[in-house]
Amino acid sequence: MAFQSKGGSRERDPVPGEGPGAAAGRCRPEKEEQARDTGDGDRARAPLAGDDPAELRTYTLRKIDTDNGAFDIDFVVHGADGVAGPWAERAEIGEVIPFAGPGGTWAPRPGAARHVFVGDESALPAVAAGVGNLSDEDVADVFLEVSGEDTHVALPVRESVRVHWVHRGDATPGTRLVEAVRAAGADAGEDCEWFVHGVAEMVREMRRFLFVDAGVPRGRVSISGYWRLGMVEDEWQASKREFTAAAEAAEAAGVPGNR
Ligand SMILES: Cc1cc2nc3c(=O)[nH]c(=O)nc-3n(C[C@H](O)[C@H](O)[C@H](O)COP(=O)(O)OP(=O)(O)OC[C@H]3O[C@@H](n4cnc5c(N)ncnc54)[C@H](O)[C@@H]3O)c2cc1C
Repeated sequence: MAFQSKGGSRERDPVPGEGPGAAAGRCRPEKEEQARDTGDGDRARAPLAGDDPAELRTYTLRKIDTDNGAFDIDFVVHGADGVAGPWAERAEIGEVIPFAGPGGTWAPRPGAARHVFVGDESALPAVAAGVGNLSDEDVADVFLEVSGEDTHVALPVRESVRVHWVHRGDATPGTRLVEAVRAAGADAGEDCEWFVHGVAEMVREMRRFLFVDAGVPRGRVSISGYWRLGMVEDEWQASKREFTAAAEAAEAAGVPGNR
């Protein structure tokens, strides 16, 4: 998996302090078959029909420039499956896509003794925005799973931010990440804020580690699945409540009196 970004400001390294926190919005990149040729050499896009959730995808606004109304989005290119990933791979500079949002924001809690960010490529824009919002005094550990060494991405890090790159290789997405975070440990008594997002199966394992094994208070953890193995986004969104309820039930059964 790799990021695809064309014509935006990806060439620049993020600047510490920039970024709105993590806000997400929904966009509708077109499927290949929706593109049509105008015959005059320009590719135009087919009229947008309806609000079919099967074609809507959720993305983080990594950086917003309020002076000119521009924002940056990083799309994970993850192969031929789906709408947004393949669109990002073939998109050309100047293409227009509908976008709605943003909806919901998150920013690190000021004053926490430590912040831990855990994510895969899909959460990397949100992690970058969050890390960019830390103050010079904030201490953080950032665990990011990417395919390998050649897919590291520049982050707005300070000396007090330690970045731990986790290489997936041929492993199932998220498994190496959970191993790395488990190995680093978690202390329920520490004033630590957690931000954990990415593939749903990783999130389920991280919930078990944090809430059951380590006993970290839930109020200190922002955690949710951004995508799920083998599911398109609307299937995942439709089943997310049930998935979370099942995880919560398993956690409650795992620890009597679990908070
Ligand atoms: C709040 C929020 C913020 C998000 N921010 C970002 C962001 O900034 N950048 C970003 O790239 N994604 C982000 N995502 C995740 C993104 O919405 C999903 O990955 C989405 O499924 C991608 O759509 P698609 O059309 O490419 O694939 P879909 O049509 O949804 O899925 C097709 C297939 O691809 C697989 N797949 C989907 N995503 C991935 C992936 N990342 N890696 C490997 N396989 C995948 C699915 O399991 C499925 O089998 C965010 C999600 C949420 C909820």
